[in-house]
Amino acid sequence: MLNLILFGPPGSGKGTQAAHLVEKYQLLHISTGDMFRYEISNSTELGQLAKSYMDQGQLVPDSVTIAMLRKRVEDNPGVGGIIYDGFPRTVAQAEALDEMLAEMGTGISGLIALDVPDDEITKRILLRGQSSGRSDDSDEATIRKRIDEYKSKTTPVFDHYAKAGKSLKINGIGSVEAIFGQLCEAIDALG
Ligand code: ADP
Repeated sequence: MLNLILFGPPGSGKGTQAAHLVEKYQLLHISTGDMFRYEISNSTELGQLAKSYMDQGQLVPDSVTIAMLRKRVEDNPGVGGIIYDGFPRTVAQAEALDEMLAEMGTGISGLIALDVPDDEITKRILLRGQSSGRSDDSDEATIRKRIDEYKSKTTPVFDHYAKAGKSLKINGIGSVEAIFGQLCEAIDALG
């Protein structure tokens, strides 16, 4: 079972690439950001809670995020593989994921990070904000906070998997097709 973490800062293109990868490799796509936005659009209790953090550019608490992720994986038994997009975002989330996959007799195949510099991601997110309708994409202070959260809490996840020789980085600047090509090469090399 392929368990792939698509990693990178906000606005690095994870969602775009995940959509292509899902099609090519027949994977289940789990985006915790999309799941929270779905809950918000349905005005659920979970959605309201998540929104209070997301609008501030903060991470939703681990306990909430981990429980939601676990349920999603358990609700989809027998899938050939999963692409994790926007999860894990903290070392605690990574440890919970490792434990859950171990219980299922599997584990993370690899983490691939899309490398994109700060000034470029800020530009991309502001541009996306013009059409995405996402309130966290329109305000520069919120975007800055998300980048800070990424640096302080999320980059250690790269190191967590690097210790097991499972992390790698690819250049996230270029055409969608060129980046997709590099991702496929990296995935095929995971075996
Ligand atoms: P982006 O990567 O562009 O920031 P996402 O859709 O992945 O967009 O995430 C949007 C927001 O949802 C994050 O800023 C955060 O508040 C929340 N979120 C998403 N995934 C997680 C997670 N794994 N842990 C905590 N919060 C999360």
